[in-house]
Amino acid sequence: MQTWFKFKPTFKEMIWGGDRLKTEFGFDIPSEHTGEAWIISAHPQGESIVENGDAANVPLSQLYKMIRPYFGPGKNQEFPIMVKIIDANKDLSVQVHPDDEYARRVEESLGKSESWYVLDCQPETRMVMGHHARTSDEFNAHLLSGNYDTLFRNLTINKGDCFHVPAGTIHAICEGSLIYEAQENSNVTYRVYDYDRMDAKGNKRELHLRKAMEVTQSPCKPDSIKNEPIEIGKNYVTYLVENEYFQMRKYEVNDVLTMDLGDVFMIISVIDGHGTINDNPVVKGDSFIALPKEEKLAIKGPVTLLIVEPKAEKMM
Ligand code: ZN
Repeated sequence: MQTWFKFKPTFKEMIWGGDRLKTEFGFDIPSEHTGEAWIISAHPQGESIVENGDAANVPLSQLYKMIRPYFGPGKNQEFPIMVKIIDANKDLSVQVHPDDEYARRVEESLGKSESWYVLDCQPETRMVMGHHARTSDEFNAHLLSGNYDTLFRNLTINKGDCFHVPAGTIHAICEGSLIYEAQENSNVTYRVYDYDRMDAKGNKRELHLRKAMEVTQSPCKPDSIKNEPIEIGKNYVTYLVENEYFQMRKYEVNDVLTMDLGDVFMIISVIDGHGTINDNPVVKGDSFIALPKEEKLAIKGPVTLLIVEPKAEKMM
C-alpha cells in the first residue's frame, strides 16, 4: 500500500498577494496577486490533490476517509490540520479566530489556532500580535472608537522567527512577510480592521466586529518562541512549536539523518535545498505526507524541512 504521498497545492488570489510563491518556490500561480498556497489541505474551499502513485488525483479529504486507520489512532473522519505558505505583498487585515467551542456553536466548524514560521521577510517587517488593552471592555471601547494605532500591538520580525497564535489572538501578517502556517482545518476568520481598502469592484471587505469582540482574549501579548537547535552531527533539529493540536519542527540536514515515525502521520515540507527522503527525490516547495507504516525517514541533504506532526488526541 502507498505510504508516501506528494501533494499539489491550491492557490488563493488575494488583494494583498504577490508573486513570491512562484519566484521563491516555483509554484504555477494563477496571478501576481497570489496570497496563499494551501499546500496540505482537506478543506472544501480548496483541497490538495495527491500527485504520485496509485492514489494520484485523489483529494486529501477522500484519501483520509479511504485509508483512515493508516493515518494513526482514532476514528475522526476529517483531516485535522491545514498547512499554507502565505506571501504578504501588502498588509493582511487585522483579524481574530474563534476557538473550537465557539466555532462549533456558531459556525459549525473547527476553531482556528495557528502557528507561524517566518520563511523570509524584509528588514523592519512588522507583525500585529495581540493588543494593548487590559480588559475586554477596554478592547471593545478602543475598537469601536477606531483607536487602532494605540490598540494593536506591533512587533518587528526576523527570518526564522516562530509564533504560536492561539484562537482569540488579534493578529495580522504584514507587508514583506513570507510565512509558513500550520493550523486547524478551518477557514473561520473575523476581520476587525482592513485599512479601509477597496477590492477590485470598489467594495470594502466585510468586518465582523461583534463576533470578534466575543472571541478576543484580553489581555493578550504573545511573543516569538525562542528555541535553540539541537546539533546531531552536521545536522540541526529545532523544536519550533508545540501546542494542543500539533508539533512543528525544523530539520536542517547537511549530510544524512534518520528519524523514526511514531503512531501518527507527518506532514513534511521542503523549504530549502534538495535531496532525498527514503530515496524519493525532494526539492524546495514540495510537500508530503508520510504514514506511520514508512517507519523511518532517511533524509539526505543538503535540505531544510519543516515537519508538522498532529497530536493523536485530536484524531479521536
Ligand atoms: Zn489568522
